[in-house]
Amino acid sequence: MRYLVFSDIHGNLEALEAVLKDVSRKRIDRCIFLGDLVGYGASPNEVIQKVISLKHLSMVRGNHDKAVCGLESIQTFNPVAAAAIQWTGKALNKKHLQLLAGLTKSPLVIHKQITICHGAPFDEDYYIFGEFDAVEAFNYFDTPICFFGHTHFPFIYMEMDETVEGTFIQGNHLEIKLEKGARYLINPGSIGQPRDRDPRAAYAIYDSEQRKIKFYRVEYDFKEAQRKILEADLPSTLAERLSLGI
Ligand code: ZN
Repeated sequence: MRYLVFSDIHGNLEALEAVLKDVSRKRIDRCIFLGDLVGYGASPNEVIQKVISLKHLSMVRGNHDKAVCGLESIQTFNPVAAAAIQWTGKALNKKHLQLLAGLTKSPLVIHKQITICHGAPFDEDYYIFGEFDAVEAFNYFDTPICFFGHTHFPFIYMEMDETVEGTFIQGNHLEIKLEKGARYLINPGSIGQPRDRDPRAAYAIYDSEQRKIKFYRVEYDFKEAQRKILEADLPSTLAERLSLGI
């Protein structure tokens, strides 16, 4: 089985379309989305529509998805994120707001081999940033693999013989063979707002037969995404950061 693993689109239609075009040339059996369809970008309705039309999709909600439909207070967000959440709440149609409100909370076991979550398996809003966090997270799922998002950094943590080792994934086409007897926490990076100083949209493909995960980066028309953000009167920093990947 080949899984498309993607996360954190944040209303960036141009980035999502570029990834789906890239993926259309590859064999994909199932899709796994790790949360944050919306927030920051100017095309929330279009992004939701595209994602829910994917076949064989498993997904969980992100913190922005939750806040936009009123399930979480915007007090916990910085002012720029809070402004984008308020803008998105007004821009979304009723059907899509209801859809966000009905999304599944993490963690979710989708297969005997795979758990998925937005932040961490013990708290959907927690950021796994480093091996200390990863050690804790490995205690909260039983499958060999847990996919997570939220940090917007492509990353893989391996737990073997009671030690945990993290690897930051840089560049395009990096493939990692998963070892038998090891467990993994894997973040595919962010489609719509990468923060690792590489502005290209990030995603991964997991091949369960070959036990391989491959990380991809795709260039997209970020100028168009920026133009829409400015035109929508969203905070201009949300446009600026897309060209820098921060
Ligand atoms: Zn996010």
